[in-house]
Amino acid sequence: MTLAVSSCLLGEHIRFDGGHKRDRFITDELSAFADFTPFCPEHLAFGTPRPSVRLVRIDDALRVQSNKSGEDLTDTLLQSSDSELEKLASKPLCGIIFKSKSPSCGMKSAKLYLENGYCEGKEDGVFMHICRERFPLLPMEEEGRLEDAWLRENFVMQIFAYDAYERFKATNPSIGNWEMWSPTGATIRWRLCWGYTNWDLKPLFHEKVPSNGPATS
Ligand code: SF4
Repeated sequence: MTLAVSSCLLGEHIRFDGGHKRDRFITDELSAFADFTPFCPEHLAFGTPRPSVRLVRIDDALRVQSNKSGEDLTDTLLQSSDSELEKLASKPLCGIIFKSKSPSCGMKSAKLYLENGYCEGKEDGVFMHICRERFPLLPMEEEGRLEDAWLRENFVMQIFAYDAYERFKATNPSIGNWEMWSPTGATIRWRLCWGYTNWDLKPLFHEKVPSNGPATS
């Protein structure tokens, strides 16, 4: 299985200050089951080291500004984000893990500032936001949330279910295959696909739903 991961979480010295944020769950545990496709839109745009950036709301639009000079870097970061997005789109991804709190990679965890310097709240980072739009069904998490045992288990189930479903689809299954895959021992995989990724597979099971309504267990 292939996962896309923020490069700094893999231990690459690619942060604005030349440091990294290696995450041992990813590099030491998930690596036994997955190959990683790294990405870093900021390194691609500005190199390393580089001035840090932040999200700023200006006239109801979100912009990216240099913390050092105040220069508007939105267009440059969007360009590199598009390039990284195309790279990810060419891979058979089963999920993405983002670095939390980053103005590029954070999932609703990047600080959003007003022009007067006050923090207004938190938002998606620039790159994370376009990934969310491009891959609406793909499991996504950030490393900070994966420290929570339940969220981690949930994410791991999602990526394995996604992988199983993609492999099954790749066999060009007939309707008969779909039926065989469901009511036997693989039912659990259906439930994972169904419950965690919002695929609407219910029509395929129409004849399996009892007349008194769907099973509740
Ligand atoms: S958080 Fe994202 S943009 Fe920042 S260093 Fe890590 S991969 Fe690059």
